[in-house]
Amino acid sequence: MKWSLNLGTVAGIRIKIHWTFLFIVLYVFYSNYRQSGSLETGLWGVFFILSVFACVTLHELGHATMGKRFGVRTRKITLLPIGGVASMENIPEKPAHEFWIAIAGPLVNVGIAILLYLLFSGQIVESYTRLQELTLSLARSGSEQMSESAHQALAIGPANFIFYLFFVNLMLVLFNIIPAFPMDGGRVLRALLAMRMNRARATQIAATVGQVFAFLFILWGFYSDPFLIFIGLFVFLGAYSENMMIQQTEALRGHRVKEVMHKAYVVLPPEARIKDAVDYLLQGHYSDFIVMDDDDRIVGLLSKPRLINALKTKSGEDPVADILVRDFEVLDPNEKLSKIYPGILGNEAGFYPVLELGNLVGVVDKESVDRFLMQQSSLN
Ligand SMILES: [Zn+2]
Repeated sequence: MKWSLNLGTVAGIRIKIHWTFLFIVLYVFYSNYRQSGSLETGLWGVFFILSVFACVTLHELGHATMGKRFGVRTRKITLLPIGGVASMENIPEKPAHEFWIAIAGPLVNVGIAILLYLLFSGQIVESYTRLQELTLSLARSGSEQMSESAHQALAIGPANFIFYLFFVNLMLVLFNIIPAFPMDGGRVLRALLAMRMNRARATQIAATVGQVFAFLFILWGFYSDPFLIFIGLFVFLGAYSENMMIQQTEALRGHRVKEVMHKAYVVLPPEARIKDAVDYLLQGHYSDFIVMDDDDRIVGLLSKPRLINALKTKSGEDPVADILVRDFEVLDPNEKLSKIYPGILGNEAGFYPVLELGNLVGVVDKESVDRFLMQQSSLN
């Protein structure tokens, strides 16, 4: 099942939207419509949520463009109901670079807020005064039930659309600069710490702070908005996994590809059938397949999970050529493991062939690196 829909490509970055986003749009439409009884208010609500997500996309593009300046490529931006995520190919090692990449997102929202204020200051001030009077009079009257007219005045519509959008951008800034790693503020914190100490320790501290915030979000979510529970879980898991990744990268420092590569791979000719690969798989020793042509050039790669997945739609008689990953990276035996480790986790092919002077000498996959990490920690 595909979880997200492609919206298009901006500056070489794919913009995807998670399908659960549709629920948000429907929910906003429904709640606005129910409160006001008017279709128009429902549609203004939808227009508003789409505008908010346009601002979130610009925020992520802010990270991506700054990343590009420092040589960090962004593969895609995914819009989730809880916000956007820019998937960067690697995390910048220089603290100053990470600082600027992290701060660039919130700065975009500062920019949008300033722009809105410059263009519509009259309207924003007017909406603000009106909404403030309204909330004050509601508080004074002390009645539990909001009047029909109060509902209408608070609802998103042409009169206060700009004000709400301005307000949301300020909120995006405030929320994102909370130092809850891996949120932007947490990355800024890690960058600032990493200017004074090594990156592993800086990440450890930032991740701990992030997890404390995540816990507070979850607690707070139980008393107010359940959405905060999701954000809390997201931050908690994000802090855990990124900290783990950095600590492992640190443990790999000083070690090279040739120390972890193994030879449990199979070379297949381009005309091999899927069942040939399955036969090897059933022997239990092999999980990485490399397809080579007669000139010993690698045509494509096939990992065990990809092969198993393909069996759902393909027959054993189909050629393996149909299911190969053809866009892959190769490694040199002397390459540094700490440099390639973050890439291994997101590697589509599932493993890397290792070539020495053009000859295949082994493969590296996540399992072989994990095994190596385990041996290292048991030696220490
Ligand atoms: Zn951000």
